[in-house]
Amino acid sequence: MVEITRDVVIVGAGAAGLTAANELRKAGLSVAVLEARDRVGGRLWTDVIDGAMLEIGGQWVSPDQDALIETVAELGLETFSRYREGDSVYVGPDGAVHRFTGEMFPVAPETERVIAEVTSLLDQMVSEIDPDRPWEHPKAAEWDAITWDAWLREQTDDDEAVRNLAFATGSAMLTKPTHAFSLLQSLLMAASAGSYSNLVDADFILDKRVVGGLQQVPLLLAERLGDDVHLNQPVRTLEWGDGGVTVTTDDLTVRGRFAILAHAPVLYNRISFVPALPRRQHQLHQHLSMGFVIKVHAVYETPFWREKGLSGTAFSPYELSHEAYDNSNHGDERGTLVGFVSDQNADDLFTLSAEERKERILESLSHYYGEEAKNPVVYYESDWGSEEWTRGAYAASFDMGGLHRYGPDLREAVGPIHFACSDMAGAGYQHVDGAIRMGRLAASSIVEASRA
Ligand code: FAD
Repeated sequence: MVEITRDVVIVGAGAAGLTAANELRKAGLSVAVLEARDRVGGRLWTDVIDGAMLEIGGQWVSPDQDALIETVAELGLETFSRYREGDSVYVGPDGAVHRFTGEMFPVAPETERVIAEVTSLLDQMVSEIDPDRPWEHPKAAEWDAITWDAWLREQTDDDEAVRNLAFATGSAMLTKPTHAFSLLQSLLMAASAGSYSNLVDADFILDKRVVGGLQQVPLLLAERLGDDVHLNQPVRTLEWGDGGVTVTTDDLTVRGRFAILAHAPVLYNRISFVPALPRRQHQLHQHLSMGFVIKVHAVYETPFWREKGLSGTAFSPYELSHEAYDNSNHGDERGTLVGFVSDQNADDLFTLSAEERKERILESLSHYYGEEAKNPVVYYESDWGSEEWTRGAYAASFDMGGLHRYGPDLREAVGPIHFACSDMAGAGYQHVDGAIRMGRLAASSIVEASRA
């Protein structure tokens, strides 16, 4: 057992942990980052599969994500825009395929009117929410007691309108069934991106990518830390008290004045805390759970949809792959489509064989792009549900009533233990931007406490 001493021990080498480590170093504190996996990046992971570079985890950057944009620029990384020339595709309830341009997709005029009306109401409600403190809204308790689905169905009995309004924060973001989380949780998701309208605007929320992949952010941040990043070190025990922390893995013991838990809150219970964490944290952590989405990558010899005048942007609440985009790499002659299969559809797919899953998913993509979609040269499913050190995708959110009840304690330090992760962010919630913000926040709290 190797023993080392640092000012701060950081558990997790994702965007949050590595940002915190770099900030602490800048402030003159020493750090050790302990990472369970054999790589850094956590939910950011760029890999080459059968000769194709794929972003298995997070990849897109939107214009409101200042913290991420600053970091990308500071690391000297280049970005490029998602391909978006041409028609988008919407598949309606009867399976009819519609091509369209602009923001409003082709539905009956009455459905369009309802969608516009509810969107405007949602934008108003979201504007009243502080994403860092949604529980402080006067109606927070009421909005946390009704499911997202039930609230939408109170606004209209137009099922197509409800399904389309629901999926922006449901299948597309929190990746849980819309009866499994509250209106307040949905409003937080929208507020974290500035507005509900921003969230449904693919050109906004899925604006840019980093040339070479977004995992370069954690890779470059880790490079600056050199030997202070320790891979293959799942943290097993964290002893804490007035004197600081002692953090133990199978091979290492690190003593420090502070610790940062920089990973998804669903994994806190993998660590034995001595003494146990307070009652409030025991309770609160049980009310957070990961959503689940399969990110599907299909690479073709050419981006054949572009020749048909299609942008690649496609969605339908009636399709297995509820949304799909042109995800071709920068400068690559081949074309890549990325599709997403969320929550219960994802559960159901994993009861099938790999062959059947592939067939069902490509069938769904073919509804948007035509028969050619059924024959990719490379096909890959990102399955974060089976990753021991993540356990779902994209991130964690509260169950019904949990956000209002426990939200205020989510980021509160417990003695020398601080918490940082995208899953507890306000702005940038569930995104890399939020992870960076939380890393910065934990670091600045520790710097302040260390000077007290
Ligand atoms: P993580 O990345 O989860 O890092 C936590 C780290 O802690 C991991 O490396 C883990 O191995 C480690 N760890 C856990 N437990 C222990 C332990 N006991 N001991 C030691 N180490 C431990 N965001 C965007 O902004 N844009 C996108 O387009 C986007 N798309 C996504 C697509 C997918 C498929 C997924 C999965 C996520 C996506 N996200 C996206 C979300 C984004 O990737 C995450 O919000 C962000 O990367 C989380 O960073 P983090 O540092 O908070 O946590």
